[in-house]
Amino acid sequence: MNLNRVLHEQARNLMPGGVSSPVRAFKAVGGDPIIVQKALGSRIWDVEGKEYIDYLCSWGPLILGHAHPRVVSAIKRQAELGLSYGLTNVHEIELAKLVVELMPSVEMVRFVSSGTEATMSAIRLARGYTGRKYVIKFDGCYHGHVDSLLVKAGSGVATLAIPGTPGIPEEIANLTIVLPYNNLEAVKETFEKYQDQIACIIVEPVAGNMGVVPPEKGFLEGLREITLKYGALLIFDEVITNFRLSLGGAQEYYGVQPDITCMGKILGGGMPLGAYGGKKEIMEKVAPEGPVYQAGTLSGNPLSMVAGIETLKELIETKPYERLRKLTQRLTSGISEILSRKGIAHTINQVESMFTVFFTEGPVKDYESAKRSDLDTFAKFFRALLERGILFSPAQFEAWFLSVAHTDADVDLTLERIEDAVRGL
Ligand code: PMP
Repeated sequence: MNLNRVLHEQARNLMPGGVSSPVRAFKAVGGDPIIVQKALGSRIWDVEGKEYIDYLCSWGPLILGHAHPRVVSAIKRQAELGLSYGLTNVHEIELAKLVVELMPSVEMVRFVSSGTEATMSAIRLARGYTGRKYVIKFDGCYHGHVDSLLVKAGSGVATLAIPGTPGIPEEIANLTIVLPYNNLEAVKETFEKYQDQIACIIVEPVAGNMGVVPPEKGFLEGLREITLKYGALLIFDEVITNFRLSLGGAQEYYGVQPDITCMGKILGGGMPLGAYGGKKEIMEKVAPEGPVYQAGTLSGNPLSMVAGIETLKELIETKPYERLRKLTQRLTSGISEILSRKGIAHTINQVESMFTVFFTEGPVKDYESAKRSDLDTFAKFFRALLERGILFSPAQFEAWFLSVAHTDADVDLTLERIEDAVRGL
């Protein structure tokens, strides 16, 4: 019997679904989830020793690929000097400096240990700063499993078709207003109705959790304008986009400055790390400088800090963005050509080195249109590729990611295998 299956069966007795995070169970695509043995560069191996070209990239953090030598040696060096101090270390100051230098709107930053903590703390700060209670989010955007933000969320919630989540009281969910992505009119109407009761808008500047959906021209600018007009804060959830679209994230890429930025994934180079930051005037409301409380035993963890520092330095020194975009473009054009030849309806949304293949004519510009993707075809496509050693996210409402470890030869091999996989669809 396949070792992946044997271990998954054991895992299911010990952990809900056999996983530590829902989508890893491959429920939406069926078949056995793979249990990982190791990974290096653009490759990952399961416990059977089968090799895959990895476009999951741990759901985004690994822009340098798996086990990048620079990051690994920094972690090894630091491990000898202590794993956690519970006190400020020099690496926090260095990473904070880098973040402030790179992210246009960030003047001060607070480190946490995950993207969820970053968004949770950011909306608390927005509410504390404005003294208001309502939060606007967009249908299909995912901001971690924060109570207030797990309303009509994308990612695994969309994948598993869970409409809401038991455990979140209605009174809390009612403080979150959910609007369609890319629909400024809806935002305007909501502000007219709620006026000065809205604390903030939180948005993925490029949605990654309903699959990749870019902001339409004027959408982010419009959000900036409306929030300024009504004295609400604009929060960019850049957990996926930070240091992926450009060194300065989506805010630099689109030239729109939010009040608060949530960060994660690439920031920690594969180690658990998140952060939120913004203008000094707002960040000074965070304890101990101000009254908005937020804390963490492992926050500022030195291993995460050095992994983040080396990842960002490597990106600054090598500026891989153009190469990554072109490589990704080659892959998406190739996939599109193969699907077209086979007569399979599809839309590919790509922004820089992230993209999603939707099995629908498109355009896909919000969650409503994303949901038109044929999930059955997606599942078949996923399984056929997995069988041929191509791994990407086992869920329609997620993104493929490329890393600097991916080569032209990887893309060629991937396209060859997709060609073969699609023959049987
Ligand atoms: N925000 C966005 C945009 C995300 O994609 C994610 C995770 N996929 C999160 C927040 C939550 O981050 P984490 O899983 O590290 O808690």
